Amino acid sequence: MSVPALLLPSPVEVLDDERLDAAGVRLLLKRDDLIHPDLPGNKWRKLKYNLEAARTAGASKLLTFGGAYSNHVRAVAAAGALFGFETIGVIRGEAYDPLNPSLQFAVDHGMRLTYLDRQTYRRKTDREVTDRLHAEFGDFYLVPEGGSNALAVRGCAEMVGEITEGFDVVCCGVGTGGTLAGLAAGLGPGQRALGFSSLKGGGFLSDDVAALQRDALGEATVNWQVETGYHFGGYAKSTPELGAFVDDFLGRHGLRLDWVYVAKMMYGIYDLAAKGEFPVGTRIVAVITGPDFDTQARS
Ligand SMILES: *Cc1c(COP(=O)(O)O)cnc(C)c1O
Repeated sequence: MSVPALLLPSPVEVLDDERLDAAGVRLLLKRDDLIHPDLPGNKWRKLKYNLEAARTAGASKLLTFGGAYSNHVRAVAAAGALFGFETIGVIRGEAYDPLNPSLQFAVDHGMRLTYLDRQTYRRKTDREVTDRLHAEFGDFYLVPEGGSNALAVRGCAEMVGEITEGFDVVCCGVGTGGTLAGLAAGLGPGQRALGFSSLKGGGFLSDDVAALQRDALGEATVNWQVETGYHFGGYAKSTPELGAFVDDFLGRHGLRLDWVYVAKMMYGIYDLAAKGEFPVGTRIVAVITGPDFDTQARS
């Protein structure tokens, strides 16, 4: 597979912050947001082996599913443009007119969009629905919603090997849990992974992460945990408090955090540190899983 220029391994940076010093915590940032402007972060890692599998299967088309603001749909469109696949995005709900910026990006990168009403969308992997999609679009390689499957877990596990500095805990944001499942799978003895759910009621995520690990590894590991207390109202929801944290972080460190996932993780890390949840001397790697694609409320 010919590979466009990707910044790999992604850089690791030390973050100097007096609030973390006070808590005795050392924080490194794994800058996966810098891997590629159109195909950043965990989305590249999750797609890598799926793209390879699609190519091996001789597929010329990728089809995937997502909400209208999905970073994953956007990433599949970009991957198709970069690696030479046609792409189809099956979007949950009503057709958008005009398109939102995320769907516009997908279309600009050659993706064909189709919409499923919410009820049908829930059954999107049922035979009846996929048969209909095949009738309309022909042969395709199916990338699951959010891009999380066993191949995605394998891709995310590789990130750990890129980190040459010693660390105790690796943190990431959690949507579908594929990234957390992979990170945990890649850890060495004594290390653990902590995922911060950006979804409200993310209790089910632990089952999902374990299931992804069983698919990928044959068994689930016990070195990870999902923190469910930092969702700030739920997926794609925010609060003034989170907004203030993002602004403050930008002012101190010159980095605007993606508020949908990354800011919720970072807020959680600072909050747990302030509460003394990390033993003094803990070395944490926070994965910056993606850039801030937009700074407006997505409602
Ligand atoms: C998609 C995404 C996530 C969530 O990843 P999952 O593997 O679905 O849990 C986290 N951060 C960013 C920036 C994302 O785009």
